[in-house]
Amino acid sequence: MAAPFVDTAKITVKAGNGGNGCVSFHREKYVAAGGPDGGDGGNGGNIILQVDDNLSTLMDFRYKRKYVAENGVDGMGQRKSGKDGKSLTIRVPRGTLVRDAETGEIIKDMSDSEPYILCRGGKGGWGNTHFATPTRQAPRFAKSGLPGESLDVVLELKLLADVGLIGFPNVGKSTLLSVVSRAQPKIANYHFTTLFPNLGVVYVENGVSFVMADIPGIIEGASEGAGLGHDFLRHIDRCRLLVHVVDVSGSEGRDPVADFDAINAELKQYSPELAQRPQIVAANKVDIMTDNSFLEALRSHVEALGYPLLTISAAAHQGTRELVFAIANRLRELPPVAVYQPEYVKRPPKVDMTQPLDITVEDGVYLVEGPWLQRLIANTNFGDYESRLWFDRMLRESGLFDRLEAMGIRDGDLVSMYNLEFEYQR
Ligand code: GDP
Ligand code: MG
Repeated sequence: MAAPFVDTAKITVKAGNGGNGCVSFHREKYVAAGGPDGGDGGNGGNIILQVDDNLSTLMDFRYKRKYVAENGVDGMGQRKSGKDGKSLTIRVPRGTLVRDAETGEIIKDMSDSEPYILCRGGKGGWGNTHFATPTRQAPRFAKSGLPGESLDVVLELKLLADVGLIGFPNVGKSTLLSVVSRAQPKIANYHFTTLFPNLGVVYVENGVSFVMADIPGIIEGASEGAGLGHDFLRHIDRCRLLVHVVDVSGSEGRDPVADFDAINAELKQYSPELAQRPQIVAANKVDIMTDNSFLEALRSHVEALGYPLLTISAAAHQGTRELVFAIANRLRELPPVAVYQPEYVKRPPKVDMTQPLDITVEDGVYLVEGPWLQRLIANTNFGDYESRLWFDRMLRESGLFDRLEAMGIRDGDLVSMYNLEFEYQR
């Protein structure tokens, strides 16, 4: 049995946390008070997405839904930094759309071959070596590492092909693809054989080529969600040109005109925009055609609608070369394959400020720590004014400043929180 075709998947990804900085002092025989020598924590590994052209479905994600990159190792004495966590690369088929699971917004269209960092690992915390100053020679504090970003995403496969083959099951789409390209799709005299989309590169001449996709047959009523329709139609969403294959042999008792209209009606149901996409009609199986009235009826029908028609026999390799040239010529006039633009904006995470922060005073420095603060800092872009304002507001709302005041903090005293250190100002 063919494995079920999977073209959407929801996964959870989590980048590695940064390692903690270390508090340590140099020790040597007969040397009394050594200086601070605590090393930094390593950075957490990133979650990286990468296109892999050997993949054509999202099936792997059905069984594994959680992806976690390595944490950074804590710093050690003798100024030894912790090792960075290894990044985790997740391989996806070309044309995978990555959406934020919560809002559905597009984060990234994985259409090129550049690796994409989906979640950044947390920065490692500084060891106490960093905090030594002439007046603070033995800092007894270091910084915790920051947490790695995490996200729930929905992956959605929208193949990246120039040409999509459409038509009823068994009309010869897979045969055509195998004849004109190097793909080796399954061909059988059985409706619904193709459960995986197949991609093939069609070499035209002199370095000209295009990518053709064969998707499982569209069945009537598919666009209403009755069958597999929607899932499969999604794949031809961004094809620049559709090749509409119609069986004109009459061998299966099909009426080509009715077939042609039924498929177009399905397309329109699914997406009016897709139904407008340019089409070339390939009237197939002319090798076993006994009566050409079917063909001629189809020809006048589609030509009246403005679609060109070419007769072929995919199985007998008749007219397929001409079809390839006609496709290549048409593609030259058409805009390139659409790449979806990201719409996702990173939102500040919801911070649950009910958990009180830890405040300790060491060497006159107010050290502030706590899980929500850690998350807040990891998600604030301090290079951006708006973000800084928001960060400041959060701290005020949490009551942190009131508590510091109650502890006797004065303007100019140092406040230290994770990788931030600033002078207190009312
Ligand atoms: P698909 O479901 O549209 O992908 O159709 P297939 O490519 O799997 O073909 C279905 C059947 O039609 C297979 O038995 C093919 O060998 C046969 N077939 C495809 N093209 C032709 C053709 O041009 N002539 C003839 N006689 N048979 C064909
Ligand atoms: Mg097929």
